[in-house]
Amino acid sequence: MIAIAADGVFDGEVYSGGGAVVVVEAGRIVSVGPAGTTPAGCEVTRFDGCTILPGLIDTHVHLCCDGKPGALDRIPDFTAPELDAVIESSLRTQLAAGVTTVRDLGDRDWAVLDWRARHPDALLPTILASGPPITIPNGHCWNMGGAVTGDDALRAAVAERVTRGADVVKIMASGGINTPGTDPAAAQFTAAELLVVVEESHAVGLPVTAHAHSLDAIRFALAAGVDSIEHCSFITASGLGVDESVVEELVATGTPVCPTLGIVPGMTPPPAVLEHLRRTGSDLSTRNALFARLHHSGVRIISGSDGGITPAKAHGILPESVIALTDGGLSPTAALTTATRHAATALNLPTKGRLTPGSDADLLVVHGNPTTDITTLRSPEALFVRGRRELSVCGGR
Ligand SMILES: [Zn+2]
Repeated sequence: MIAIAADGVFDGEVYSGGGAVVVVEAGRIVSVGPAGTTPAGCEVTRFDGCTILPGLIDTHVHLCCDGKPGALDRIPDFTAPELDAVIESSLRTQLAAGVTTVRDLGDRDWAVLDWRARHPDALLPTILASGPPITIPNGHCWNMGGAVTGDDALRAAVAERVTRGADVVKIMASGGINTPGTDPAAAQFTAAELLVVVEESHAVGLPVTAHAHSLDAIRFALAAGVDSIEHCSFITASGLGVDESVVEELVATGTPVCPTLGIVPGMTPPPAVLEHLRRTGSDLSTRNALFARLHHSGVRIISGSDGGITPAKAHGILPESVIALTDGGLSPTAALTTATRHAATALNLPTKGRLTPGSDADLLVVHGNPTTDITTLRSPEALFVRGRRELSVCGGR
């Protein structure tokens, strides 16, 4: 049994100051209490001037992408050992940023799922994974290996994900910005096709998340009853069209939305993204403000980085996704919940994203108080992965 003490604790929902002790045994949290609640004889690791919070959850990553130029295009070029090395390096970079759980939403075939099966005891972030996103021939991210046509092939695709041990089904409901020849303003599947995937997945207990930039794709995905929406950019043929009836439906259904905000500070997005922003009359800060507004309207926002796909979207930038929400107008506390408790709830992970007895002892320690200075997330002081201290994280200040 060990105890971790600090000046304050953010339990995934609220901050408590005045001293805090988190007691850990066998990789689980035993108790969370005020200063002085350390059990007799328990070894204490003290972090003065710091806050303990749950290890962060990045709900949207691409572990097969190395974050270098053209990362999405180069996926098929890797040999299997090279891909394993990229996956492991991606996970280590995520860990160094305080991320203890990732959801991979863009595998190259089954590389991430296979890697996870071969490394059950790795002290790296816990992985949820979708396998290759289901897409149309030559559609968004077709080179990951998930292109299909027709209802029978859609059903077979879901069945294969079950066989491979996927935790979630990812479907590219619209085109994407980073795959040439696809149109982010257009839907790739009909609502009826999305419904086939949702019904087939739900029948075996798998959630479905839809990549949806276009307004039509968002509408179709909601009509089909998907469990979450990635990007949710409200793009129409003539620019941006935030449809209030769609916003109301997002609120009414409680569908979590991951806007994939945030970039490496000081970096410029790739030309395709800049061109897309120009065409839609928006910029990165209008996106931040849009999702802050949706949050205030009652939409459930969760944070994911899209880490790995470009140098501006390198692994380990989840703190920037959270900070971007505060730039848009969320309070630091509300922004933190999008990468902790609300992310865990959206991903159906009852033992992650919260500091409660029985939860996994994935603990992030940051200097100061992140609910008053969110930028402290950028330099984690310490990290515990299922109760074991991760020594690559030791204060970036
Ligand atoms: Zn993505």
